[in-house]
Amino acid sequence: MINLVDLKRQFQSVKNEILQEIDAVIERGQYVLGTKVRELEVKIAKRLGVSDAIAVANGTDALVLTLDGYGIGAGDEVITSPFTFFASAEAISRVGATPVFADVDPVTFNIDPKEVEKKITSATKAIIPVHLFGQPADMDELNALAKKYGLFVIEDACQAFGASYKGRPVGGLGNAACFSFFPTKNLGTMGDGGMITTSDSELASQIRKLRAHGTAQKYYHDRIGYNSRLDELHAAILLVNLVNIEEWNGKRRALADRYRQLLADAVHIRIPQEADDHIYHLYCLESDRRAELMAALAKANIQTGVYYPRCLHLQEVYSGLGYQEGDFPVAERLSEKLFAIPMHPFLMEEEQDQIVSILRQEGGN
Ligand SMILES: *Cc1c(COP(=O)(O)O)cnc(C)c1O
Repeated sequence: MINLVDLKRQFQSVKNEILQEIDAVIERGQYVLGTKVRELEVKIAKRLGVSDAIAVANGTDALVLTLDGYGIGAGDEVITSPFTFFASAEAISRVGATPVFADVDPVTFNIDPKEVEKKITSATKAIIPVHLFGQPADMDELNALAKKYGLFVIEDACQAFGASYKGRPVGGLGNAACFSFFPTKNLGTMGDGGMITTSDSELASQIRKLRAHGTAQKYYHDRIGYNSRLDELHAAILLVNLVNIEEWNGKRRALADRYRQLLADAVHIRIPQEADDHIYHLYCLESDRRAELMAALAKANIQTGVYYPRCLHLQEVYSGLGYQEGDFPVAERLSEKLFAIPMHPFLMEEEQDQIVSILRQEGGN
């Protein structure tokens, strides 16, 4: 079996370091928001060139706490992509605001700034671009819109730790950014985890309060908060993985280059384009023959996946928002044509060759 991701190989490669770190956590006897969490926050803030990084329980909470930290709620609108994981929009709904969708670019799969501008109203408070599959969104254009209309830009960088845009790391490109450390993300732990990065120190202090029940001083509460903290064990594991992330993302890029060469002339397959420094969280092909290609790969014990089979504006839970099929033709087409093939730092060239040979047979060369 060739899997889409192979976490077992990844964690085996750093098992000894992780076991040592876990042992050290047990020795210190501090388990939630301790010295390892602080070390992770400082290292990530430094790496991304921001003043603050605040660790939370998961990537969804990172989005929710950021929106709440900015006071965004009922009556407010936030613009995001209809072609992303549900959490990007769910967080907007969770704080009581309304998600407003704008279509994506057919090449990058990321939100199209021209479509965003058409959706801005007097109720719009923020834009959440998603760096989908590890490809940075068009941040210059989005930041220019935000400046023109007085909006916040909150990067959903959950799929893009280590990517950069015009030479600057994602996570420091807007007002704030949100990361997930779910195991399958490029930088992941052995459980849930998340992080907000920002250079807005007022937002950072609000989020630090929010993650711990609305308190800056224990047992004195000045607002209603959350219980959304990162565990020491996860921070310790993430610090080990952080040392390797550059190399792991480099391997993903090398495998993507290889896929590009080997699939360049397959007529029924369109390979992903790189608009900027892409770190290939997922490697998604586009094809009119998706079902046949996926079936042929499945027959050879090669795992594939569809990201995402239904756009967010067409989700049942959002039927009340009044969208219809046809509203976002690019996103809808991508939901019908894209499928992911195995991509992870521990994928071997021989495995890649097997995948390619089936794709070339079925996809026409
Ligand atoms: C994974 C992901 C999230 C949510 O992160 P969790 O840690 O699973 O809560 C949000 N947005 C995007 C784009 C994601 O891929």
